[in-house]
Amino acid sequence: MPRPKHDAGLLTTKLRVCEIFFSLQGEAARVGLPSVFIRLTGCPLRCTWCDTPYAFTGGEIMPLALILDKVRALPTRHVCVTGGEPLAQKNCLTLFTLLCDEGYDVALETSGALDIGGVDKRVARILDLKTPSSGEMEKNRWENLALLTQKDEIKIVIADRADYDWAAERIREHRLPTRCSVLLSPVQGAQNATELAEWILADGLDVRFQMQLHKLLWGNMQGK
Ligand code: SF4
Repeated sequence: MPRPKHDAGLLTTKLRVCEIFFSLQGEAARVGLPSVFIRLTGCPLRCTWCDTPYAFTGGEIMPLALILDKVRALPTRHVCVTGGEPLAQKNCLTLFTLLCDEGYDVALETSGALDIGGVDKRVARILDLKTPSSGEMEKNRWENLALLTQKDEIKIVIADRADYDWAAERIREHRLPTRCSVLLSPVQGAQNATELAEWILADGLDVRFQMQLHKLLWGNMQGK
């Protein structure tokens, strides 16, 4: 397939990129699918259990044209834009539309603290709800919930029983499973996975339990 020519805007519109890599999607509905990951630099949050603090600073400023070239060079139609917090850089909105226009299946992983309203409607939004243990619960932007559709997902990371109780309460209060899939994951090294699974079953909570596949396969290796 001939490559589309880059227009001037794609060369002058830029994003600060932490890394671009090819791996298996480790979470949510696309788990197990070979995917390109575009990890953008920067995040306004500081979750206590953040596993990507290396994405807070640094990275390389890249024109959108170069990012698209790197994506096209990899053998998959699945693209995950993650961070950091991708929405902290407004040019990511243009990137979403360009990727969707080229036929990619695009997912966004976002902290839930920023407005998702401007994201191209074709993008699947994986929205975090931050629990008490994260230290960032006050940043949850509850208005985002009304914008979610069935192709989106809500992810809640659980570090202890207090987080679980908080999550169960929010799930019921906002009837989250009627909006989209709700994912509960244990914080590796903090919350016992089996215990979390048992709590979900005991309460009959209408959620999907998940563990991060990439960590089971590769541990905390960066770029996997
Ligand atoms: S929102 Fe994500 S990237 Fe930002 S501090 Fe929290 S876990 Fe880390």
